Amino acid sequence: MTRQITAIYPGTFDPITNGHTDLVGRAATLFDRVIVAIAANPTKAPVFSLDDRVKLARTALQGHANVDVGAIGNLLVEFAQQKNAKVILRGLRAVADFEFEFQLAGMNRNLAPGIETLFLMPAEHYTYLSSSLIREVSKLGGKVSDFVHPAVEAALRERVK
Ligand code: ADP
Repeated sequence: MTRQITAIYPGTFDPITNGHTDLVGRAATLFDRVIVAIAANPTKAPVFSLDDRVKLARTALQGHANVDVGAIGNLLVEFAQQKNAKVILRGLRAVADFEFEFQLAGMNRNLAPGIETLFLMPAEHYTYLSSSLIREVSKLGGKVSDFVHPAVEAALRERVK
């Protein structure tokens, strides 16, 4: 029996950046299936609606045959179990990410011991990239085309209007 390994890549993706896409590209070569799971995350008060975040991620990630994008409304580990996923994938950019990721991975392991959290690092030029910085730069009229898909750039421009 061949074993299919599914990895869930959860986050707010407000909006998806090339850093996220870089990570998905790496994961797509390692796992049979990658599910980008976009959390509603109302506590972060996202700028883009859940629906828009899903649509933008789908556009940015088209071309990867084994990657799906979906919205997630329940507990992450429950979603992972429903999808029969063995891996939760997260990105590590700098030491600053570690503290929070360490807590999250510990909590998720406690909730679902059979699921492993794995970390990937993006290409170096994306290590300083975050969705919040992109929103800020775009709001102030800066150029973000090196860091996001053209559809995301257009959506950001539309927001400012
Ligand atoms: P969250 O609100 O869950 O942190 P994000 O959308 O900000 O959601 O990030 C989702 C995941 O992607 C996190 O693990 C984060 O560290 C990672 N990530 C964010 N930006 C980048 C980037 N530029 N390169 C690699 N990983 C990233």
